[in-house]
Amino acid sequence: MAFSVSRLASRLSASRYVSSVHSVRRLSVSQHHWSRQAKVGFIGLGNMGGPMATNLIQKGHSLVVYDVSSDAAARLEDEGACVVGTPAEVASQADRIITMLPNSQHVRSCYTGEHGVFQAVQAGTLILDSSTIDPTVSKEMAALATKKGAVFMDAPVSGGVNAAKGATLTFMVGGEQQEFEAAKELLSAMGKNIVYCGGVGNGQAVKICNNMLLAITMIGTAETMNLGMRLGLEPKLMASIINTASGRCWSSDTYNPVPGVMPNVPSSNNYQGGFGTALMTKDLGLAQDAATATKSPTPLGSLSHQIYRIMSNSDLAEKDFSSIFQFLQEQEE
Ligand code: NAD
Repeated sequence: MAFSVSRLASRLSASRYVSSVHSVRRLSVSQHHWSRQAKVGFIGLGNMGGPMATNLIQKGHSLVVYDVSSDAAARLEDEGACVVGTPAEVASQADRIITMLPNSQHVRSCYTGEHGVFQAVQAGTLILDSSTIDPTVSKEMAALATKKGAVFMDAPVSGGVNAAKGATLTFMVGGEQQEFEAAKELLSAMGKNIVYCGGVGNGQAVKICNNMLLAITMIGTAETMNLGMRLGLEPKLMASIINTASGRCWSSDTYNPVPGVMPNVPSSNNYQGGFGTALMTKDLGLAQDAATATKSPTPLGSLSHQIYRIMSNSDLAEKDFSSIFQFLQEQEE
């Protein structure tokens, strides 16, 4: 049955909101089965958002998309998405919105800016932010969404670009539990592990902790491989032993930082694509902010942040974060 967006919006505002003089009682978006005719909005079509949006199209969703980069938007247009000129235009056409932006500042401006999502968001809209940002910004956006009668959940991802392409991402979801099923229904088109982590901001909390550990293990893997190679070991042999021994980790067996050890990873492609050094530096900064706020000792997280900050000021800033291997290799022998 055809189901227009405007009919959907009026149905949502009529059925989900019971107004009184002082309050608006919101009913769960989970109680609504989304119409396939209604569009999914997608904002931020970069290394991760691009393939995630592609997967939504391939699973039969109609997309309305926006990116500040017209090249990124054009790639999705070629795949059948409708491209618009502002986040507000996305919000006016979609009852579900996903954002995949670099950092907290981008998210804040995308939602609260002059032509931002909150200028036009419809009551009853489900918003999922998959960017990795400060959990306090997620809480701020959720409070603003509530004022508009919408639902905001944080849903950062783990898995990298290959998992984004293969729709095997892990989503760490924070927000009201009653809305989780609605979020899961949509996120399942882009990932295989959709995990409820608690209140809004908790998805970001898990993600920040995971990425601090990832940075530590990536630096450890890179310095270990570099040492072994300077001892005369052949890197593939060395990796194969580590990967069946106690030093094994994701950085060694899935995303090895040494060029040529594994196919289809950024290190074997001049560290192009993947997860940028600048983004890892940002995540380590978020972890340090959280450590300060909670008075938690994170000596290795702090050192990793310093190392990636130095790399961010080098020509490796735009390369994948596994280029820490190249950074160490270039140091004096
Ligand atoms: P990216 O830089 O490749 O893509 C970001 C996209 O957002 C770009 O296309 C950019 O043009 C667009 N953009 C920037 N500001 C915008 C705005 N105001 N409005 C609309 N579009 C805007 O970044 P990415 O690698 O896709 O990462 C996105 C998020 O996902 C980051 O928070 C990152 O930490 C997180 N993440 C990345 C990876 C990874 O492996 N790349 C893995 C997990 C999580």
